[in-house]
Amino acid sequence: MSLLGLSAVGAYAWNSTVERNPAPQVSFEDPLPSTAATPETRPAPSSSSTVTPTSVAVGPTGTCLESAESAGAAREAPSERPPWLTLHFSPRVSTASLVLISGAASEAREAFGEAGAVGVHVYCDIEEYAAGLRISSEEASRRIGERRFASILLSDIRIYGPSYERQTTADRRRIIYHEYFHAVQHSLSRNRSARGDLERPVWLIEGSAKFFESSMTQRELEAFRRSEVRRWAALPELSTFIDGAGSDAEFGPEVYRLGSVASDYLVTKYGRDRLQHDFWAALATTDWRSAFLQVFGISVDEFYADFETYRTTLRP
Ligand SMILES: [Zn+2]
Repeated sequence: MSLLGLSAVGAYAWNSTVERNPAPQVSFEDPLPSTAATPETRPAPSSSSTVTPTSVAVGPTGTCLESAESAGAAREAPSERPPWLTLHFSPRVSTASLVLISGAASEAREAFGEAGAVGVHVYCDIEEYAAGLRISSEEASRRIGERRFASILLSDIRIYGPSYERQTTADRRRIIYHEYFHAVQHSLSRNRSARGDLERPVWLIEGSAKFFESSMTQRELEAFRRSEVRRWAALPELSTFIDGAGSDAEFGPEVYRLGSVASDYLVTKYGRDRLQHDFWAALATTDWRSAFLQVFGISVDEFYADFETYRTTLRP
């Protein structure tokens, strides 16, 4: 389980509506929060479509549908959808998944703000998932085996359906919240948060996404603080979780863990809007250290020192 710091993914998938940007882009490969996923390698028919079901109840968790009849049923879903959201999915993706994804994306937009046009691609087949990420099938299988089956490239969220559909409903929603928050980061920063040629604070990019996915309600936020806001004494300082500008760093789950504690601290101390919106908007026109100083009123190095002091007050 790790974050791909600098990706070979540089091309764009079909039906993408995002603004083209010639700079290298980073595809975030986010680890999943619960039970292990099993790669599925059976080839399947597929296509893309832009249907957003809106009124079908979410049923029990299943995997990508297996019969053509079921696939047909899924594709007859109601076609009303928010204009900013486009779903691209294999015919084998269950209607329940599409309803859940559409609903969660709308909730995320309500909570985090607009991110422009957002696409969600759900694949039932490893070859297609690999093609969407512009990686080999072997690499796709490896990532799926490490529970990295959701990612975002600019404003296009890509999901490997068989693994996704095995998650709990709560986790499936959280995955969408998380990836949507990355879409907000990219949109506000004019994709500078995704530029592989710029130095980027991965602790802040991933930490804030984890924090906000965990704070949709006060109850979830309290649960997050109970379980996650700890000293994490074995983890290195935040300053080690930086990538970009030619480096090819990969970070494991620790970047989410410590980054979300730091994000919680920033929100508590400076207010939610600055981390949810202002920092990413400032990043559109300057480097991340300048944006940080501008928005939070202290330098990154001052914050690192402050955070280390705060960290010692947390329970182990
Ligand atoms: Zn992420």
